[in-house]
Amino acid sequence: MNTFKGTSVFGGVAIGKLFLFKKKESKIERVHIDDVEAEISRFEAAKERSIAQLGELYEKAVAEVGEANAMIFEVHQMMLEDEDYLESVHYIIKEQNVNAEYAVGATGDNFAEMFAAMDDAYMQGRAADIRDITDRLLSELTQSGKTDFRMEEPVVILAQDLAPSETVQFEKDKLLGFITKEGSTNSHTAILARTMDIPAIIQADMELLPEYNGKLVCVDGFTGEIFMEPDEETLARMKKKQEECLAEKALLQELKGKETETLDGQKVNLYANIGNVKDIATVLTNDAQGIGLFRSEFLYLESEDFPTEEEQFKAYKTVAESMAGKKVIIRTLDIGADKKVDYFKLDPEENPALGYRAIRICLEQKDIFKTQLRAIYRASAYGQISIMFPMITSVEELREIKVVVKEVKEELAQEGIPYKEIELGVMIETPAAAVISDDLAKEVDFFSIGTNDLTQYTLAIDRQNAKLDRFYNAHHKAVLKLIEMTAQNAHKNGIWVGICGELGADTTLTEEFLRMGIDELSVSPSMVLRVRKKIRESYAKREEA
Ligand code: PEP
Ligand code: MG
Repeated sequence: MNTFKGTSVFGGVAIGKLFLFKKKESKIERVHIDDVEAEISRFEAAKERSIAQLGELYEKAVAEVGEANAMIFEVHQMMLEDEDYLESVHYIIKEQNVNAEYAVGATGDNFAEMFAAMDDAYMQGRAADIRDITDRLLSELTQSGKTDFRMEEPVVILAQDLAPSETVQFEKDKLLGFITKEGSTNSHTAILARTMDIPAIIQADMELLPEYNGKLVCVDGFTGEIFMEPDEETLARMKKKQEECLAEKALLQELKGKETETLDGQKVNLYANIGNVKDIATVLTNDAQGIGLFRSEFLYLESEDFPTEEEQFKAYKTVAESMAGKKVIIRTLDIGADKKVDYFKLDPEENPALGYRAIRICLEQKDIFKTQLRAIYRASAYGQISIMFPMITSVEELREIKVVVKEVKEELAQEGIPYKEIELGVMIETPAAAVISDDLAKEVDFFSIGTNDLTQYTLAIDRQNAKLDRFYNAHHKAVLKLIEMTAQNAHKNGIWVGICGELGADTTLTEEFLRMGIDELSVSPSMVLRVRKKIRESYAKREEA
């Protein structure tokens, strides 16, 4: 058995024969031509044929993976009509008296390099699209043999890299999974793999050796592991994992699109927690009704330096747009304690969980806070965004926050930048906040209970300390009492209340939460359907004996 490792872009388990996919390379030669006009016509004809082919691919993709994912082929059609790209090809043919193949190859290389050098990860990903349209044009110009996409039996594809147009040309029912040596998580190929619901691993540490062709592999899309010629024990383990995965999928299918409603008709908003723009795919595939917690500090954790307003704006806008009008609650920066970032230059502390963290940093370093609030308010124009603040302990903190929020809105208005009036909420994750929730409720539009920290602070148990696991009891009566008190105070003041800590997904407590009148549960994407199932089997009000 050989074990390889890569980065998973979509979960699941695939077991099957490996199929080495190699595209036919079109070798480009630089040839002197005399008839420039004829060469340009030859190029134009190849371009028209390519556009027509993309139209066909679009239709195929619409049928197989839906309109939104098929759009890439429309985008490629548009790229083939891009003035800059076309001008460059014409110019090279005319100026250098060279063949169209050479002009297309040179233009493709230049444009792809230009995109690859951009700072923005999305734009970098577009370099692959440029190469894709360039290859298509070249294969039309050279009329070289087309790559063969037919497969005899269901296989796991192993390729250097895959362009979106290649991904969609494989016969879907014969595709068990993808492994690529290259590839980026932002690429459309990764997006398509997620939509096709098959495990996909990129950046695998695996060579494309001809002898691998036909060998049995197990692809673990959860861990990014690839087992070639697995031993009996590994094969049995992977088969079991695959069965569990299939059972889970069956459950998923059954509950997709169904109401999150109790047997006695109480509706609950069932949202998902994310830490990253990339998590939206799983939110959508698991049919969450919104995002109840976007842990925005992950943008900071993944960055080498403070993310700029523009970088944050793009991330929040992408999330808001992708959720297409469904609620997206962005939690402002919650750095500190276990989430450390070098460039914040935080001093070492005796008790970091009780230290300089979250809203305390934001209120001390208002420039950081304002940058984030500006980005969120700017993105508010593109969807249904709400903001919530972590680690609140007093009404005074909230008032101070509101002053900053007001300043940000005034500045945006002065600059003529559009934004919406949005809901503001607080996380109830300190005992202090729960105890004064009656006062806090008068200041905000909603509460979201962070049971992870609420348990830590109520029980005085460091949630990071594995030794204390046995004492960390989130079902402790004190924690449940604080949750209930918070819910009562929220409703007394006419605002809604949700739970976004891990306890929200604990189905042994779902009925208890329903009885308390919790209006929203925000859980990890993979838990959404399990919680929906539990809610649909429950009564919100206990039946009278
Ligand atoms: C919580 O404390 O329950 C919470 C949701 O926030 P985090 O886990 O990110 O601290
Ligand atoms: Mg917390």
